[in-house]
Amino acid sequence: MLEGVAVIGRPGFHDIRIAGGRIAEIAPSAARDGGMVTPLLADIHVHLDKTYTIGRIGFERGARIEGLFDAIAMMDEDRRRWNAADIRARAELALRQAHANGVGVMRTHVDWVRPEMPEAWPVMVELRREWSGRIDLQLAALVPGDLIPEAGEGIARRVARDGGVLGAFFYRNAALAEKVEAVFSHARAFDLDLDFHVDEGLDEEADGFSLIVAATARHGWARRVLCGHACSLSIRSGEMLKCGLDAAADAGVALVALPTTNLYLQDRRRGCAPRRRGIAPLAEALATGMTVMLASDNVADAFYPYGDYDPLSVLRLAVPACHLEPSDWLEAIADTPARWASSELAAPLAIGEAANFIWHDAADLGDLIARPRAGRVVYRDGSPLSAEAEHRRNA
Ligand SMILES: [Zn+2]
Repeated sequence: MLEGVAVIGRPGFHDIRIAGGRIAEIAPSAARDGGMVTPLLADIHVHLDKTYTIGRIGFERGARIEGLFDAIAMMDEDRRRWNAADIRARAELALRQAHANGVGVMRTHVDWVRPEMPEAWPVMVELRREWSGRIDLQLAALVPGDLIPEAGEGIARRVARDGGVLGAFFYRNAALAEKVEAVFSHARAFDLDLDFHVDEGLDEEADGFSLIVAATARHGWARRVLCGHACSLSIRSGEMLKCGLDAAADAGVALVALPTTNLYLQDRRRGCAPRRRGIAPLAEALATGMTVMLASDNVADAFYPYGDYDPLSVLRLAVPACHLEPSDWLEAIADTPARWASSELAAPLAIGEAANFIWHDAADLGDLIARPRAGRVVYRDGSPLSAEAEHRRNA
C-alpha cells in the first residue's frame, strides 16, 4: 500500500493498494506527503548500437567534435570495432540502465550503412526477445538516404521479416524527393512503419520534413511516420512554419525532439558560444495537434558524450530549453511514445492493470523537475526493483 501519494492525471492525494502484482485500488486519501507516482517511461528514439563508445573514441581522437558530420565520421571509425559481443555488451548495459530508471518501452535505431544486414541487427532482435516483459523494445533500421535506391527494397524486406520499423537519414541529399518516395513505396510494399532522422542541421535549404509530410499524405500513411530532429524547423517562423506543421498534423506525422544531441551539436563552432539552439519548435507543433514526443537519442557516443537513458532528465532539460510546461509534457516521455510503439507498459495507472509505475520522492511535478536527486522507486508487477536484485539478475 502506498499512502497519500499524488498521482499524475488525478487531482488530490490517493492510497494505492496493490494485490497480486496489480493495482487493486486507487482511493482518495486523507494522508499527504506520500510522494508522487508517474507511469513508467518510454524512450522512442535511442541508438543502442552506438552507445557507450565515447570512452574509446575520446582516448584515441581527443574527442574533437565540431558538429554532426564530425560525429558521424568518428562513429564510422569506431564501427570497425563493432562485433556481436561488443555491441551486445554495450546495448545490455544501456537496457539495464534504462530499466533501472523506470523505462518500459524503447525504440532503438540500428545503423544499416551497407546493403547487407549489419551485425548489430540480429543482436538487437535477440535482445528484444530476451528483454520482452521488462522493456518492450522496437527496432528501426537507420539507412543513409543515398543507400535507398540501391538497397532499400532488400533492407525493407528483412526489416519486415523481423518486425522492425524502416528508417532513413535525410539531410539535403541529392534527388531527395525520389529517395523519400522510394522509402514510402517500400513501406507500402512491406507494410512498415517509418522513422526518419530528418533535417538535423540549420541550413535554410534543409526541408526533407515537408517532403516526408507530403508523401505521408499522398500514401495515406497517417500515424505510421515519425520524424526525428527536424532542427531546421527552428529557423523558420511565421506562416511558413505554421503551414509546415499544420500539414504534418493533417497528414498524421509525429515529431520527436532530441534536445540533448541537438543542444550539443547544433550551431557548434570552435571558440564560439551557441546562438541558435536547433530544437524543433515544440510548442507550435503541439498546438497544431501533432503527436509530439521527447527522447534520449544518443548516450555516451560521439553525437552526445553524456546521458544515462533517463527520459525524465531529458524533460528536465527541455523544460527551460524549450519553455515547456511540465504538466503538458510528461506524457511526451511516457504514454504518448508508448502508444506510438503499441505498448501498454507506460500507460497511466489504472485499477485492475499491472502495477507498473514509478514512485518519486517529490511533492508534485514542479518539485520533481526541480530536484534531479529526488528519490525514485520503480515498481514492476507490484514489486519495487531493488538495485541489488537487478544486479544479481543481470550478473
Ligand atoms: Zn538519432
